[in-house]
Amino acid sequence: MTQFVFLMQQLRTTFDSGVTRNIEWRQRQLKQLAALLKDHENELLEALQLDLGKSHAEGWLTELSVVNKEIQHTLNHLPQWMKAKRVRQPFLAMPGKSYLHPEPLGIVLIIGAWNYPIQLMLSPLIAALAAGNCVILKPSELAPRTAELLANTIPQYLAHDAINVVNGGADIVTDLLQNRFDHILYTGSERVGKIVMRAAAEYLTPVTLELGGKSPAVILADANIKTTARRLAWGKWINAGQTCIAPDYVLVDESIQNELVAALKEASQTMFGVTPQSAEDYGRIVNDAHFNRLISYLSNGKVAFGGDFNASERYLAPTVLTHVNIDSPIMRDEIFGPILPIIPISSLAEAIDFIQQREKPLALYGFSNSNKKLRQLTEATSAGNQCNNDTLMFMLNPELPFGGVGRSGMGRYHGHFGFETFSHVKAVMYRSTRPDPSFRYPPYTKFKRRIMRWLSSQ
Ligand code: NAD
Repeated sequence: MTQFVFLMQQLRTTFDSGVTRNIEWRQRQLKQLAALLKDHENELLEALQLDLGKSHAEGWLTELSVVNKEIQHTLNHLPQWMKAKRVRQPFLAMPGKSYLHPEPLGIVLIIGAWNYPIQLMLSPLIAALAAGNCVILKPSELAPRTAELLANTIPQYLAHDAINVVNGGADIVTDLLQNRFDHILYTGSERVGKIVMRAAAEYLTPVTLELGGKSPAVILADANIKTTARRLAWGKWINAGQTCIAPDYVLVDESIQNELVAALKEASQTMFGVTPQSAEDYGRIVNDAHFNRLISYLSNGKVAFGGDFNASERYLAPTVLTHVNIDSPIMRDEIFGPILPIIPISSLAEAIDFIQQREKPLALYGFSNSNKKLRQLTEATSAGNQCNNDTLMFMLNPELPFGGVGRSGMGRYHGHFGFETFSHVKAVMYRSTRPDPSFRYPPYTKFKRRIMRWLSSQ
């Protein structure tokens, strides 16, 4: 028997009481979450620093500010999102009215990854609460200080009979998955995504899988090299490259490859100095296993700059590799670290072909001065998200959905898309009892059939 039987019963009782359907309850939880972030800002930033070597500035920019914005956006729109929306009534079913009526799903499980341990827990939580669900959060054990802080603070601010934090590793997830949830949102690797989906299938529980993969950046000959390099450097080396949507590798027009590498080096030095090991805003690799995996990639190409490391600190410099063997591990695995392979291409068509031959990425980046060419890239390829002439910035827009496609994941959230993920849109029709013409009831005479055909064509 699973150790979560009583917790599940408690959450089910809360959900069945109907309290979470109430808009005031949902708004209160969201406001309390904002209060938690405000009251514990320093401790949260400190936990990120201890877990991942994230500077306070980076922690605020990539985690707290994103979550705060999501709360404000949700509070601003919640009354409108919750409203049943009237849709057209077909002639045959008149008089009457039809509505799309969003309702909460029940108890949802949110399992997070370690690289953005606050954002990846709290952004889905906002959506799940906004939609009126009870929630179990399972933060990643690889960011232990953040996980512990969330487990200690959340019960002080949010309704503990509806929202629970459970800490632990694979064994705890395995146990949790033996229970029946109404939705599971998982963020992490493809390997564990399959485990989650298999377990969910047992109860026919729907899943949202936020996975990763190799996200390419395509740099065309007419791109603004200096700005492109700065934006690539920022998107790649934030969190020491441990970002699911970081540009994984670069496909660059061969005529500008040397210039781009030089500009990347300059951008790296401007952001992190000539010794990034002592830069306040440069992070560390999360654990030894990931560190050793990354070091092994350094021999898969020629180090154009960077490449130095320190195992005791799990420090690996911002690194660019050229002359990369495209069949080597660095081009097969998701890198998830600060190494950027540069691969020359001769045309946009070659870049498109390269992307089409691989799994659909979570993010795709295009850099060019020609919107026509960028549109061509969009139309010829598939990706979870695409951002042109920048990296990562699409995450700041709560009007855009976030999620993968194919092997990079399924389902989406952020803003209204998250509210929809954790809601069931119930079809509701109201009919008047009068009039009640007999043409729809058997026996279907020739005359009745003619009327029905005419009415259904209206
Ligand atoms: P992780 O090791 O933190 O694992 C994620 C969760 O799975 C954790 O909560 C962990 O406890 C659980 N878990 C681990 N092994 C398990 C097992 N055998 N059975 C059940 N549960 C288990 O994170 P990770 O998997 O290293 O995450 C990195 C991957 O996540 C990368 O591929 C990255 O691209 C992806 N990612 C995606 C997003 C996104 O939003 N799409 C965000 C961040 C990371």
